[in-house]
Amino acid sequence: MKRREQQTPDLKKVYADLHLHIGRTDSGLPVKISGSRDLTFRNIAHEAAERKGISLIGVIDAHSPGVQQDIAALLDSGEMSELAAGGIRYRNVTLLPGAEIEVRDQGMAGPAHYLCYMPSFDAMQSFTAWMSGYMKNVQLSSQRIYVTGRHLQEETRKRGGLFIPAHIFTPHKSLLGSAATRIGDVLDPELIDAVELGLSADSAMAGWIPDLDRYPFLTNSDAHSLRKIGREYNALHMMEPSFEELKMVLEGRDGRGIAANYGLNPLLGKYHRTYCKACGALANGTAVHGNCPDCGSGKLVGGVMDRIERLALESGREKPSEAARPSYMYQIPLDFMPGLGPKLLDRLLGRFGTEMNILHEVPYELLAGEAGSQLASLICGAREGKVALQSGGGGTYGKVNVIQEEV
Ligand SMILES: [Zn+2]
Ligand SMILES: [Zn+2]
Repeated sequence: MKRREQQTPDLKKVYADLHLHIGRTDSGLPVKISGSRDLTFRNIAHEAAERKGISLIGVIDAHSPGVQQDIAALLDSGEMSELAAGGIRYRNVTLLPGAEIEVRDQGMAGPAHYLCYMPSFDAMQSFTAWMSGYMKNVQLSSQRIYVTGRHLQEETRKRGGLFIPAHIFTPHKSLLGSAATRIGDVLDPELIDAVELGLSADSAMAGWIPDLDRYPFLTNSDAHSLRKIGREYNALHMMEPSFEELKMVLEGRDGRGIAANYGLNPLLGKYHRTYCKACGALANGTAVHGNCPDCGSGKLVGGVMDRIERLALESGREKPSEAARPSYMYQIPLDFMPGLGPKLLDRLLGRFGTEMNILHEVPYELLAGEAGSQLASLICGAREGKVALQSGGGGTYGKVNVIQEEV
């Protein structure tokens, strides 16, 4: 029998979280100082495979020579292996080596964080060798590099890497939150593969910014601990989790693409609204650069929504883009669910396998049988966006504060 050429490839839905930090190396060297001690390369792989159910992971901080020693040992021992299509395989999980790098160009109003992913372990080692010439301590996470953003983009592209501005609206260290109002002022728009929205923004909010129309949106956890892995993530249509397939997803080639973004409701993010450090009031709207409308103090921490309103106004856009985007699903991470402690979580994982299963698949009755009807209502209510939230600001997360009964 003659084999027919397949028209559509056999695509799978793969959950991906592309922004996880390393806390320490196996030998105890600090990498991300604020990261937890058990956040090692091996533990991330294990957690993603066994508990989260997330099979494509971006390991930020793989540029660190100490982390590279750990990776080399895992590859040598055969516990992990490199894929021809890019990425490091552990059981059913693929880990992509990446780095988060801080840049402050001349003419930038503040620093910005950029994510750079490399197709191979070799490429990452070569990237580290280049970076170490322009950085004070290449061992640590999220360090300042003393080159321009464009130079960093070129060095990334030269090695076949992907360049993705991180948490683009956060008020302290981000492309549109603190560094610039127009992307072209500080980066080469052609050398950006996607943008990461960050915890306080969603696709609808980002639709206000014309500069972003051409880029795919990613939602990642920026986890500093094992528990926070998957607090935001993406569902991708791809053949298998690998670097090359991720590249095709971002280019939208041959049927690949982002199926959905799963993110916090922006109300839960730490920086949704402008917040007054002096009196604690959340100041909506216009007060970003003025004084607190409640107490008059000038100590305001800018909110993401307020920043977006300002950028939209400057760009002249009067309503958000209507171009089709993957659906953005508000996800309440198990971590945020009131009443769900580590013991109960372990029990649920023992019964239902992974967090992705608990969040997406397990029916209400089964959840209620194990965790009680309140928690089951919350998990199932969140699937349909039926949970009330209180907004965050000034570095404090918002709260999940109303539980609606299942109807
Ligand atoms: Zn960052
Ligand atoms: Zn980060």
